[in-house]
Amino acid sequence: MITLKEAMQLPKEEIAALREDLKRKIEEQKALNAYVALDERGEGVPLLIKDNIQVKGWSVTCASNILQGYVAPYDATVIEKIEKAGLSPFGRANMDEFAMGSSTESSCYGKTLNPHDPERVPGGSSGGSAAAVAAGIAIAALGSDTGGSIRQPAAFCGIVGMKPTYGRVSRWGLAAYSSSLDQIGPMTQNVEDAAILYDMLAGHDRRDSTSADIDDTPVAPNLNPDRKLTIAVVDNYVKDADSAVQKAYDAAIEALEKEGHTIVRKELMGAKYDIAAYYIVATAEASANLSRYDGVRYGNRAKEAKNLKEMYLKTRSEGFGEEVKRRILLGSFVLSSGYYDAYYLKAMKVRHLIKEEFEAVFKEADLILSPVAPTPAFRFGEMADALQMYLSDAYTVGVNLAGLPAISLPILKTDDGLPVGLQLIGRHFDEQTLFDGAMSLERAVCYKD
Ligand code: GLN
Repeated sequence: MITLKEAMQLPKEEIAALREDLKRKIEEQKALNAYVALDERGEGVPLLIKDNIQVKGWSVTCASNILQGYVAPYDATVIEKIEKAGLSPFGRANMDEFAMGSSTESSCYGKTLNPHDPERVPGGSSGGSAAAVAAGIAIAALGSDTGGSIRQPAAFCGIVGMKPTYGRVSRWGLAAYSSSLDQIGPMTQNVEDAAILYDMLAGHDRRDSTSADIDDTPVAPNLNPDRKLTIAVVDNYVKDADSAVQKAYDAAIEALEKEGHTIVRKELMGAKYDIAAYYIVATAEASANLSRYDGVRYGNRAKEAKNLKEMYLKTRSEGFGEEVKRRILLGSFVLSSGYYDAYYLKAMKVRHLIKEEFEAVFKEADLILSPVAPTPAFRFGEMADALQMYLSDAYTVGVNLAGLPAISLPILKTDDGLPVGLQLIGRHFDEQTLFDGAMSLERAVCYKD
């Protein structure tokens, strides 16, 4: 598939031809179920949009039955921005319901398949975006990352996925899952495309009170893979990972050394605390954010309710899927009186420690290299137990709790042809260094699809 950089140089007629070609290919690959709809707007370079980002006049459903029938009344800031840069929203990508999940199995539209092995998940929650880019039926896509939802599907599908620093990209028009963690970011075929798309998305927005008013010099024109950096590796993270992930890790360290970077060995408290803190904070915020879906203001309303209370109950019982209900229950529990201090407040303290721990590493290192997931793409149904699925987020959620930028890129393929990705994590608002390092790693490992 033509890259985003190349597509942006095409004359108008060729973009039109490209769009037709894409439509044909999407139809041919319908079985992947990466697109939930082929909505189109404008005539620019087509960009696939995750189904939790508002595009005025389009249905936006977050892959949930509760939002069927809802039509976005305004554009998300990122949509305004990409259109200004010559891109056009093209298709809605499948996802886990309300972005809650790591496999895209919880979508009300059914699962998306991994293009490398149809028996395996594409990752999640931005599984449709990742599968489409990997299968050559999208040039690039937008995803959202609350606890790994851009980086993990990117790793499972063998593409590049980047989560910006919290506050870097406006969340205006992104359906909120966990507001203190959510960020929109690019999912692309290579690091340079990710930088190009990131530049379009980044920038202060007064409509999002958590958006940072800070220097946002574009990174793509300044990309420099020849910079020599100090990169921390976290051996204690890797020791519990699958052997394929360890192999990728060793290969990446060797490649980075060959590129002239300095490797320093560090330890992070890691997974156990990250997962516990994350699933308390994320579900607490989700339970509040999802209270707005009550059958009055958005989408679906249950029929034949006798009174208002019954209408709320029926709408939510019928509209939300099992995983979303589990999160609302968990979140309501940790916020309830008597448990707030024991769970929510404690999780906030742990969150603070995680942030401090990262900051200590960044006193000595420019970047951190870490796995994205403990295994390559797993099989459908393999994570039947919710807790098991949560544990697979071990390496991604810490980055969101600390608000750091990170990028996942493909490193190698297993003997079965499954991609293995790793992530680089950067300092707050230092996306330039993150992209420079990622470009260097990409060049050195030479992943070929
Ligand atoms: N898998 C994580 C969760 O279910 C992350 C999801 C995300 O980043 N949206 O919460």
